[in-house]
Amino acid sequence: MNDQNPFKIIIIDDNPSIHHDFVKILKTKSPNEIDNLSAELFGGEGTTTQFPEFEIDAASQGKEGVLRIKTALETGKPYALAFVDIRMPPGWDGIETIKHIWEINKDIQIVICTAYSDYSWEDTVKHLGKTDNLLILKKPFDNVSVRQLACALTKKWELTRETKDYTTQLQQEVSDRTMSLQKSLSLLKSTFESSSDAIIVINKDGTITDYNVKLIEMLQIPKSTIESKSEESFFDYLQTQLKSPDEFLRRMSELRENRTEVDISVIHFKNGKVFECYSQPHQLNNEVVGRIMDFRDITKRATLEKKLHHQATHDPLTGLANRVKLLEEIKDAFSLSNKHDSLFALLFLDFDRFKLINDSLSHQAGDTLLKEAATRLQASIRKDDVLARLGGDEFVILLKNISSKKEIEDKASKILSVFHQPFHIADRKLTITASIGISTYPTDGDSIDILLRNADTAMYRAKAKKGDHYIFYTPTMNSESLATLDQDMELRSALANNEFFLVYQPQLDLGSEKLIAVEALIRWRHPKKGILSPIDFIPTAEETGLIVPIGDWVLKTACAQNKAWQEAGLPPIRVAVNVTAQQFLVNNLTQKISTVLKETKLDPQYLEIELTENVILSNREIILAVTELKKLGIFIAIDDFGTGYSSLSYLHRIPLDRLKIDSSFIQHIQSANDDEVIIRAIISMAKSLNLEVLAEGVESLDQVNFLKKYDCADVQGYYFSAPLSGDDIKKSLENPDFLKKLKDSLKKHAHEGS
Ligand code: C2E
Ligand code: MG
Ligand code: MG
Repeated sequence: MNDQNPFKIIIIDDNPSIHHDFVKILKTKSPNEIDNLSAELFGGEGTTTQFPEFEIDAASQGKEGVLRIKTALETGKPYALAFVDIRMPPGWDGIETIKHIWEINKDIQIVICTAYSDYSWEDTVKHLGKTDNLLILKKPFDNVSVRQLACALTKKWELTRETKDYTTQLQQEVSDRTMSLQKSLSLLKSTFESSSDAIIVINKDGTITDYNVKLIEMLQIPKSTIESKSEESFFDYLQTQLKSPDEFLRRMSELRENRTEVDISVIHFKNGKVFECYSQPHQLNNEVVGRIMDFRDITKRATLEKKLHHQATHDPLTGLANRVKLLEEIKDAFSLSNKHDSLFALLFLDFDRFKLINDSLSHQAGDTLLKEAATRLQASIRKDDVLARLGGDEFVILLKNISSKKEIEDKASKILSVFHQPFHIADRKLTITASIGISTYPTDGDSIDILLRNADTAMYRAKAKKGDHYIFYTPTMNSESLATLDQDMELRSALANNEFFLVYQPQLDLGSEKLIAVEALIRWRHPKKGILSPIDFIPTAEETGLIVPIGDWVLKTACAQNKAWQEAGLPPIRVAVNVTAQQFLVNNLTQKISTVLKETKLDPQYLEIELTENVILSNREIILAVTELKKLGIFIAIDDFGTGYSSLSYLHRIPLDRLKIDSSFIQHIQSANDDEVIIRAIISMAKSLNLEVLAEGVESLDQVNFLKKYDCADVQGYYFSAPLSGDDIKKSLENPDFLKKLKDSLKKHAHEGS
């Protein structure tokens, strides 16, 4: 009992005077009395010890006592101690009574009050069993013993109760904790199971200690493998499923060595699935006891990443590698080449006249051609070589592991030959050629930029050969600019020394074969090299800017010559003069031309200016200048039409009079179906734009017949006449049969010569 509540004691005795005695002995009245009792009991002054207060009840019979004990227990005020007489006739004796009491309340402390002749301790134990809640008090009582017993046993009862409460509380706590642990464990287990990842726990000894159902589902692990609980069987199984098992197994054995390491690796299964494997040490009390592996299905993500990477590194039209990928591949080729002491080559390939096909047919047809050509090109190279499309009709082929120049030559020829078979596009047979420039590592440079630039330079040289050629880069292609310097000096003196002269090539009306105009073409009578063609010096003249004074001279000379023919009373014809972009851009060309016309007194309608399409479209100012020339009444022609990169749609915006179809198309008449298609397209387009058409480089009767069939109005070419001197032009103007006779005599000469 606590401080407020007295301990409850019950005296069960058939003798009421005994009740009275107990009350007297145990009931205390005042604090002094307590102190005295305490001193009596425990010795000393007894001033500080508190003798407990008792509430004493009595029963005369065993049954009555038991009933009271029961009621007290039920009302929550149990007895701490019972003094039970051993003999209580006529009812239960003490032993019987105690049996009943303990049936109700085991905790109650009991003192059996007995006379000498009653039960011995052994008998009592025999009847009631061994217990420490029972003491025997011999009659007659000693007051002090009674007080001692009451005091000690109630204290014991209180301690027992407290201990019991404490134990119950502890038990409750343990059960609460167990419950909460069970809860977290089940939470953990359900998290483990509800995870979308496959999880496996393997201990240090290589035993699988845990795994979730997902592991079996996702990795499709056979039951026997997982039931074996062996890490080795698990990895053996994975080995059969992975695309590159060696790499994964190597990583796993590394992790076995470094137990604390965390690792994330991506593993590819043969069935196409991709997993991210997150592996971390399994720790218990700061000690690594094994490893937890978490497999996450990242197939979708990996597929998307792969797609994105493919998009970033490939050309969407042809599916070939793009510039990014090519650069990566060239980087690799450097190290491969250095390692194996081998060469690699870059082939810069460009279609000849692609732009025109694109424009005259359709962009769709152009795309189809590119795709078809890409397929053929791909088939013509080895698997290790790389074919990339840089854009437009520019391709680069990287040939790896090359041992000789001959090998590159063979491959380049093979590549060019894929174009020799016509392409079937938009219900047409198209023939196209390509030009290739080649640079090799290490000969032609040691960086990607230099190698690509040199291959590109060489490609332009190949193009100058009118296509279907490959050319190796040579350092002279760059050092040719040095040679240019020398030629620059020579050209300057040529002008001063009057070493230039003009020849005039007749242009005829195809129907009447009448001379209608001449094209002025420059020649250089070189003091040492003899007569040089424009191709030998015009490029240098353009590079050094000398083309401007040379061009001025051509213009003046041609106009003067034409005026001279007219003044000689010959029928008036036009003279065509070739003009470059530079001539337009330096000074005021319109002003210059009108001055020349004034000086030579030539009517503007007898002067024709030839520009290439690239010249016209290279600059807005040129378009304006052409417009002004046109206003002066000068005839404007586009030269070498079809070889440039212009879009045909521009033509109607520029005031033009004539298109000169480039000789390369004319030369393919009868041999290339697509060129015929293009010529017909140009002729009909020119007509729709109200332009005259002249075919250049006409050399054969077949070509003449073809051009006649498709209504090409004008022609120029060796078939009718090579470029002639001014005198010969004069003669042909005087005598319409002159050209024919000239041709016949040339034929005869050729015949006799053969
Ligand atoms: P172009 O303006 O296209 O001139 C036609 C070229 O074709 C001339 O070459 C002519 O001789 C050649 N030719 C004519 N008929 C035939 C033929 O039936 N078959 C073949 N295969 N060729 C034929 P040329 O005189 O060597 O001139 C070459 C180029 O040089 C000219 O091409 C022109 O672009 C340029 N050129 C010529 N003279 C001048 C000039 O005074 N100033 C400028 N800026 N360029 C000029
Ligand atoms: Mg020309
Ligand atoms: Mg031409």
